[in-house]
Amino acid sequence: MNHANPVFIPGPTNLPESVRRSIDLPTIDHRSPAFAEAMPELFAGLRSIFSLENGHIFIFPSTGTGGWEATISNTLSKGDRVLACRHGVFSDKWIRMCEAFGLIVDVIECDWRGPADPTRIEALLNADRDQSIKAVLATHNETATGVRSDLKAIRDAIDRAGHQAMFFVDGVSSIASMDFQMDAWGIDAAVTGSQKGFMLPAGLAIVAISEKAIEATQTATLPRFFFDFKHMEQMTNQGGFPYTPPMQLLAGLQHAIELLLTEGLETVFRRHFKMGEGVRRAVAAWGLDLCCNDLRYASDTVTTILVPEGFNAARLVEHAYSKYGVSFGAGLGKLADQAFRIGHLGMLSEAQVLSGLAVIEMAMKDLNYPIVMGSGVAAAQEWYRSTPNADAMQLSMSDATCEDAA
Ligand code: PLP
Repeated sequence: MNHANPVFIPGPTNLPESVRRSIDLPTIDHRSPAFAEAMPELFAGLRSIFSLENGHIFIFPSTGTGGWEATISNTLSKGDRVLACRHGVFSDKWIRMCEAFGLIVDVIECDWRGPADPTRIEALLNADRDQSIKAVLATHNETATGVRSDLKAIRDAIDRAGHQAMFFVDGVSSIASMDFQMDAWGIDAAVTGSQKGFMLPAGLAIVAISEKAIEATQTATLPRFFFDFKHMEQMTNQGGFPYTPPMQLLAGLQHAIELLLTEGLETVFRRHFKMGEGVRRAVAAWGLDLCCNDLRYASDTVTTILVPEGFNAARLVEHAYSKYGVSFGAGLGKLADQAFRIGHLGMLSEAQVLSGLAVIEMAMKDLNYPIVMGSGVAAAQEWYRSTPNADAMQLSMSDATCEDAA
């Protein structure tokens, strides 16, 4: 395996050199005053990233999945109803977790090539006359399908129905990479992990909670201990953790936040759009289809690409790895053999994306895919060449899509 190659999986991301250095630390005493003093800045930085003014932030030694568990177990009780769209493996897993906790899930089955459906959410909330649904769950960016859901539209749907349900969002592969506004979109719980937009190794679940969701913790009766918000908040207010925290990861998180805020979140989002758009243009030039069937919802952190009939995507991913030492994302769930994924989140440059496109082109050619070698790379080059750097990009991201690439 060649360690010089970047990965093109949608998280864990490539580690920027300075992030690697920031976690390469000797043992730090987690009960020292120095640790307690560093905490307020860490939480303030996270508030900026989540666009959260009031409300609460929790950091657990865990992963995104643990963040979901923390959210559910602190805010809901056995037998509570929740509403969720299923449109990929991550939304499905969240549904299955709720069921495992004894919640009743009203599942809206959606097309895996599209986003969560606000119209059907609104209809089900309207039909819930006694307001028994306690929460609406949405996966902002379905990492399996490369489809982004419109959280503002879901918020509006909840409001139009006049429903009091809380709004819980999986932002694991969107937060810190794509526009995310916890307060403005009326989100009551938002979950992410350290290994995606924060560009760190896996190991932290970061959960932001509104005042309304904190209220719900008073009456919620699902069992919780490790993930108990109340205990965690008491301890972090005193500058500590209820158990041994992963100190190096927390130092890395502080550094990653500094990187993101110094670049500016708007610039970070535009940079992700720019990288993603290059990949989308490459796919169009190959003549292949995106899994996402409406470009308005295309993800800027991962692109899921359908392989032509008669080809096997798992074989392509395996070949790219074994022959060229480069990792791409495999298709997940029912897309296992039909799709592969190119992750483009974290601190990726044009040069890196182009190298990934060049490698997957070679792998496709080796396996006799009907593509013209160099066509995708050229399309992406043209886009990167003709587009200003993210800090100078004026165009609104929805103004430029592959539709005008021809
Ligand atoms: N939700 C989404 C959208 C994801 O992409 C992932 C992981 O890739 C998860 C949840 C699960 O997160 P973790 O693997 O950190 O538990």
